Amino acid sequence: MTRPTAGPDPGVSGPSEAGRSHRRWYGAAVTLRDTSIERLRDGTFDVFVVGGGINGAVVAASLAGRGASVALVDRGDFACFTSQESSNLVWGGFKYLENYELMLVRKLCRSRNRLMKAYPDNITEVSFLAALDDSSPYPPWFSALGATAYWAIGGFRTRYPRLLSARKIRAEEPVIDTTSVRGGIEYRDCYLKDNDARFVFSFVRSSIEAGATVANYVELVGAERVDGHWHVRLRDLETGEELATTARMLVNAAGPFVDGLNRDWGVTTRHRVVYSKGIHLVVPRLTTADHERVLAFFDDTQRLFYVLPMGIRSVIGTTDTRIDQPYTHVDDDDRSFLLQQINERLALAQPLTADDVIAERSGVRPLVVKAEGDDHTDVDWTSLSRKHEIEVDAAKQAITIFGGKLTDCLNVGEEVAEVVESFGLPLERDHHNWYGEPTAETRSEFYRQARLMRLDDLRQRADVEPLSDRLWRRYGRRAFAMLESIRADSSMGEDILGGTDYLRVELHLAASTEMVTRLEDFMRRRSKIEQVVPDAELGDSEGLREVAEILFADKADAKLAEYLQARA
Ligand SMILES: Cc1cc2nc3c(=O)[nH]c(=O)nc-3n(C[C@H](O)[C@H](O)[C@H](O)COP(=O)(O)OP(=O)(O)OC[C@H]3O[C@@H](n4cnc5c(N)ncnc54)[C@H](O)[C@@H]3O)c2cc1C
Repeated sequence: MTRPTAGPDPGVSGPSEAGRSHRRWYGAAVTLRDTSIERLRDGTFDVFVVGGGINGAVVAASLAGRGASVALVDRGDFACFTSQESSNLVWGGFKYLENYELMLVRKLCRSRNRLMKAYPDNITEVSFLAALDDSSPYPPWFSALGATAYWAIGGFRTRYPRLLSARKIRAEEPVIDTTSVRGGIEYRDCYLKDNDARFVFSFVRSSIEAGATVANYVELVGAERVDGHWHVRLRDLETGEELATTARMLVNAAGPFVDGLNRDWGVTTRHRVVYSKGIHLVVPRLTTADHERVLAFFDDTQRLFYVLPMGIRSVIGTTDTRIDQPYTHVDDDDRSFLLQQINERLALAQPLTADDVIAERSGVRPLVVKAEGDDHTDVDWTSLSRKHEIEVDAAKQAITIFGGKLTDCLNVGEEVAEVVESFGLPLERDHHNWYGEPTAETRSEFYRQARLMRLDDLRQRADVEPLSDRLWRRYGRRAFAMLESIRADSSMGEDILGGTDYLRVELHLAASTEMVTRLEDFMRRRSKIEQVVPDAELGDSEGLREVAEILFADKADAKLAEYLQARA
């Protein structure tokens, strides 16, 4: 295996310095990326991965974690495309039973169960409460049968499902308008407590810790197979500089863009992707129960849509519309449709309007279909499978990942590792340590230290979760350095952006270990601040300025101006 000399990883050494000198952390994010660019320039790798969405990130983590030398690039930030637009659900896909996709549901349930076990703090079991009215395609008793089958297919790993009367639904969730509701069901699945993009970043981080060379805002502009190696041409989109690097194998994890790249490289495949657009609207919290819960309804087209929890907000979605190209936005029709659907099903004091929408999400699901044959014009778009396919060109040592789901990510990482071994690159034994949260012992030690220093007393507000939970979930082992930093300087434990739930120390850690290259990377993906705080509240505030200063040091003014201009 080719092993590039691994430079010191600021992510490992940086945090232990915390508290002694904050200034030493300033600008460290740039150093991490600069180091990667330096390694990419004229580098030689076992595997080059293009695309830093969930698929590229898990592949980099699984291969680097098993000893391969890996490079991973994305032309935007990690998870900047499809992987930041999901419903944040980790689920077997109860609704896919409607299409009789038993095998897919079984596989996704197993993936969900593995993720639940590996991420006990980040992936939370949540109740789905489905209210069924006269126009719903199934009566409550039949849906309850389906939910029981789903529970069984999922190996009984969640709490049991329930059949509910309209009266019970009203009592449990008064916001649901039960006037025409016949009854309903409650079943259980899981969701990502923070956000999809942060989950993706956890794999990027894991790959960095295993020695992978990783860079955002680096575009692959060309690749050619010469004398048994891929010669890859890259462009650093921050500087415009062109770089060249070589690798033995190439993994195409470009999501909606896989087909275009394969065409450019002369790789032919039996599959291709088509696009299904889905949107979400983030609004003030709609559910009234004190615990988090998903509400499920059939829309007027008899398709399931949800009200999902996102901290102090609710997220309404999603839609499933055929579209011919990958770039999308929420248009007036999408927004009006979802608002109308939800207003008809909830008993709100005032109907929701576009003015209540705090943020919007829009993306395309890359769905895998056979490359040959019809153009699927006559196909019911919503019935196309959500499975993934991994295709291999052994002669060129090229691997393409088509489709998939966040939920299925561990399988993708493992399947690609198998192919890489079949190409003749021996990997170390899989100890499954390239994913998941730290051990229960490490967790107890973190909570012990947090308790001893009375960390949770720093927060007096009743409406926020305890700091210890938040820091542990978001940072795992890296949270120990934060305790150290707060012990040394109590200002590190202060909120930095009003009520957004971010401490000063988190920004310092992000600056050194999370490769935040543009302000949006932090505001939208490492955190979900942009999704939950209205623009008017953020504005050009002092807090935002300090965020920029911590992240970008002497480049803060330029980065802040760039961010504000993009949002104007
Ligand atoms: C509305 C919606 C809801 C969803 N909900 C769920 C859900 O609740 N649960 C679930 O499990 N799944 C869900 N999914 C599916 C899941 O989000 C996607 O399957 C997954 O994010 C796809 O990841 P990916 O890595 O294949 O693609 P992407 O995330 O799109 O990553 C591909 C990356 O490749 C990069 N790239 C492309 N070309 C180049 C190049 N030339 N050089 C460098 N980089 C390049 C892009 O910038 C991009 O970041 C949902 C999807 C949508 C759209």
